[in-house]
Amino acid sequence: MGKQFVGFLAIPFMAPYNVVSTELLHHSTFDALNSFDTQTARNLTEENTQNESGYAKVYTMEIPKERTRDSDIEQFVLKIDLLSASKQDDGKVTLSILVHNQEQDDLISTIKPSFEMVEDVKETSKLNTFVRMPHVSGQSIDTISGYPCYRNIDGMLAFMYELEDRASAINFLDVETIDIGDSYEKTENPNEGYDILALKITGDGVAAKGWTTNKGIVFVTCGVHAREYSPPELCARWAEILIDGYGNDTEITSLLDHTEVHMIIESNPDGRLIAETQRNLFQRKNTRPGCRFNNFLFGTPGVDLNRNFPFKWGLNSGSSSNKCDETYRGSAPASEPEVQAIIAYAETIFPESQRKDDPIEEIDEPFPEDTTIGVYYDIHSYGDLIIWPWAYEERVSGNEESLQAAARKLKSFNNYALAGPDQPAFLYPASGVTDDYFYGELGALSFTYELGTDFYQDCDTFENIIFPVNIPGFMYTAKISTKPYSLVKGPDIVETSIPSTINYHPTTKLDISITVSDSELSVGPGNYPPSTQNIASIIVCADMHPYDIDSNGNGPQIATIQVPGSPDTTKTQTILAPLSALANVLQAPLIGNHTLYLQGSDSDGYIGPVMAVSFDITCNDEASIPIFGVERECAWIASEGGCNIEQGQILCPSTCNIC
Ligand SMILES: [Zn+2]
Repeated sequence: MGKQFVGFLAIPFMAPYNVVSTELLHHSTFDALNSFDTQTARNLTEENTQNESGYAKVYTMEIPKERTRDSDIEQFVLKIDLLSASKQDDGKVTLSILVHNQEQDDLISTIKPSFEMVEDVKETSKLNTFVRMPHVSGQSIDTISGYPCYRNIDGMLAFMYELEDRASAINFLDVETIDIGDSYEKTENPNEGYDILALKITGDGVAAKGWTTNKGIVFVTCGVHAREYSPPELCARWAEILIDGYGNDTEITSLLDHTEVHMIIESNPDGRLIAETQRNLFQRKNTRPGCRFNNFLFGTPGVDLNRNFPFKWGLNSGSSSNKCDETYRGSAPASEPEVQAIIAYAETIFPESQRKDDPIEEIDEPFPEDTTIGVYYDIHSYGDLIIWPWAYEERVSGNEESLQAAARKLKSFNNYALAGPDQPAFLYPASGVTDDYFYGELGALSFTYELGTDFYQDCDTFENIIFPVNIPGFMYTAKISTKPYSLVKGPDIVETSIPSTINYHPTTKLDISITVSDSELSVGPGNYPPSTQNIASIIVCADMHPYDIDSNGNGPQIATIQVPGSPDTTKTQTILAPLSALANVLQAPLIGNHTLYLQGSDSDGYIGPVMAVSFDITCNDEASIPIFGVERECAWIASEGGCNIEQGQILCPSTCNIC
């Protein structure tokens, strides 16, 4: 295909440019963009979204199986605004293409491969409905017009500071909103644009006990592509759940005490403002100018921040060198201030010791499972996909087993399609992307999510589907973040049953049931042997997390319970422990709240993530006890010698001084 490919590119790609540049003189969109003023834009929101002609159309093109990965097709994909590429059962690939305006519509026919483009009337109509979504009366001014479930850019940045404020009243919770750099507009003019803000969330509960622990890292970027409405909101909701749960929810408290969560909720704020106020532009990139006098062919000016990351930057497969293309990679690796800010911050978060000397030379070397920490994910929309490295070309990485094991577990929560290398849903490469950088350079177990079904996703779908199905997966990533490549292969505690309160007597038994599974969360096509083994044991610690070290350098007392019976990948184990026995392992005081930390291990020796469950031991007398038909109190029972018998002690532990 080589020669044909060159010919294909040279002729049709060159010819229309001259035509277009004269067209440009009459084109007003970018003039408007260049004199863009924040306040005006905000004021015009409703007008813009309702009065624009809304020409946008969606086309589909079917590519025969044998041509799907031809280089001319791959190059075409980089020139267009590709909404989705999906493989049919017969191997054909259907491209869904967004055409923004009449000029594009006229020109696309001159560069397209010889396959038919058919308007997708239903998708076009849906798209334009979303573009023109009317303002909802009474919706907060901090939200996107017509989309009251999404905070707008100003609302979101204010919310990050509000979360910091809220958290300052919560004991041992450490939340900071950190200015990590400037957006492109702000680097040009300090009175315009935005700060790039990182939200750091972690708990200091371990240090508060005088102990130490090695925390995991979760690093999340959202809003890298401006027009994708749901990702920043989803990230913000997770941040809020973590903050509100600290000190109230055992799992969240344990998780934050052992993890630092870092979120860049609005990674492309300049672009976001346009996407919120001029929906008909479908702004994806940042706002760096440059397309205007060049080859105005498709889309908008700006650099695609998700093609500007320095790892494997600049490949002609998976990114474009044309400033007008939606996948324009920028003039140099990390040329964009938003990308520079994210990288500079990330380099201070992920330990230098786990980086490779030469990440390109050693590209196939796996990161060690036992010593590499940190999880990264980049949240996009749309497509219901989970993507993992490599993306720059279809090629599995040295840590494919752990990456795919993790993707399958994430899928168990949201049922998204697996779209890593060698998966049916992997269709076209993308180079200079976030997750290749965070994995390749920093060692993080990395993903890209594609949420939902639209850029301007309706609030119904967001609230009822996207939000509830994705939060559990985020929690899971945090639980494995201390040692992700290893923990992900271990079994998961999938169910526990434990009484929330138990009244003290030495003979009273704590009755716990634990279900541990190495297969239940490992979903997807077929069994996945690298992370599915038989259950070997359940590991229990009380009142001290297995990763904690006390001031004498000691970790917790660990009970390993072998799981009897026939070998299986899922086992349920009941534990009956008298409180007299538990008293030896629980931290004093015995009366009060206690936490059990549970892990499973499998027959390959992999230990899974920690689950924390808590219960209260109380020392409460029964209010009154019927004795031969008369209600008696514990004082009477004690005076009659009831404390000498076990039943009396159980009913009146406080009066009988049992606890
Ligand atoms: Zn995106």
